Amino acid sequence: MKIVLQNLTKIFPARDKKKGKETIAVNDFTFTIPDGKLVGLLGPSGCGKSTTLYMISGLQVPTGGKIFFGDDDVTKLTPENRGVGLVFQNYALYPHMTVKQNILFPLQNLRGPDKLKKKEMIERAYEAARLVQIDELMERKPSELSGGQQQRVAIARALVKMPKVLLLDEPLSNLDARLRLQTREEIKRIQKETGITTIFVTHDQEEAMSISDIIVVMKLGVVQQIGAPQNVYDDPTNLFVAKFLGTPPINVFNGRVEDGKLIIGDAAVLDVPGVDDRDVFVGIRPEGFIPSDEGAFECKLSSVEVMGRDVSVVCTNDASANPFVRAIVDADYKIDREAETVKFNLKPHKVLLFDSVTEERIRFEVN
Ligand code: ATP
Repeated sequence: MKIVLQNLTKIFPARDKKKGKETIAVNDFTFTIPDGKLVGLLGPSGCGKSTTLYMISGLQVPTGGKIFFGDDDVTKLTPENRGVGLVFQNYALYPHMTVKQNILFPLQNLRGPDKLKKKEMIERAYEAARLVQIDELMERKPSELSGGQQQRVAIARALVKMPKVLLLDEPLSNLDARLRLQTREEIKRIQKETGITTIFVTHDQEEAMSISDIIVVMKLGVVQQIGAPQNVYDDPTNLFVAKFLGTPPINVFNGRVEDGKLIIGDAAVLDVPGVDDRDVFVGIRPEGFIPSDEGAFECKLSSVEVMGRDVSVVCTNDASANPFVRAIVDADYKIDREAETVKFNLKPHKVLLFDSVTEERIRFEVN
């Protein structure tokens, strides 16, 4: 099911109209989510991710704009009439019911032409349980399950009504690190197997990047960038997006462009053809440094951390916006741990320039 968001806006009025200010939780969001894709809504706390999801689900009414499922305008439809499956962060299972009863519950509430025979309901419940691999736990109560298993029950309960759209709100945040990894792969598998258009909300960029077909990065209610995770990482539209994606995060420096050369501190570190003379923020991805005795970019060496295949070189530079600069280089490079400084050449496509006022991206030709 294709989903179209058209100028979607949500404004929460101030509680106290005299003193408080209204909150524009989502501001003019327009986007078409292609059928069968897994979309990650991503951004820091309060950026409007959940509000967007709730408007798509029907739990919240937009202040402005429209939502279409396929060609149907669903903006005014109730959640029950939209055919969406919802999974929340707290799994919200009924504790006194078994897994089977929990999964059956949404089917038992179907009325009219959608009403199912008992046998059909049981078949559907087992089919959903098999999909999330909990069909052997059907007689247990939620308290007898691990967090990951409980989350699977919640997903099965959302899938059992065969929704046209699956909406997941921070589905992994109650799980420990190992289970998060495993469960996010599960979500990807389930989404692929069912082909249901799925939107999930997370503040964890790594999670969003690892399983999404498309990510949407939001800030203060405004969409910053939409695209395939790798494209957004490689080609961010502004400094906010560049800083939000990537672990370790991008290194940021104060710099300037003079005569087509990028200057950091006193050193000309890279040719940046086509960029006018100006002050810039320079973002350098950790993987953008190549250690070299002839390198133009010099930093004070703080420490060298070996991480198996790679080495993390931690250093400082007066022009850096952060206390430390982190370079990730191949372990084949032998870094002298006793040296006071370390010099680098820079990979041009890993160096990103941003306007020093608007923080918008300034592109240059990479040879
Ligand atoms: P988080 O990751 O913390 O859940 P989020 O990106 O999902 O954040 P939202 O929950 O969508 O953000 O909230 C967006 C903005 O709208 C926030 O400033 C929030 O305080 C505000 N907001 C959300 N719900 C309401 C409400 N019911 N009444 C008033 N303001 C609200």
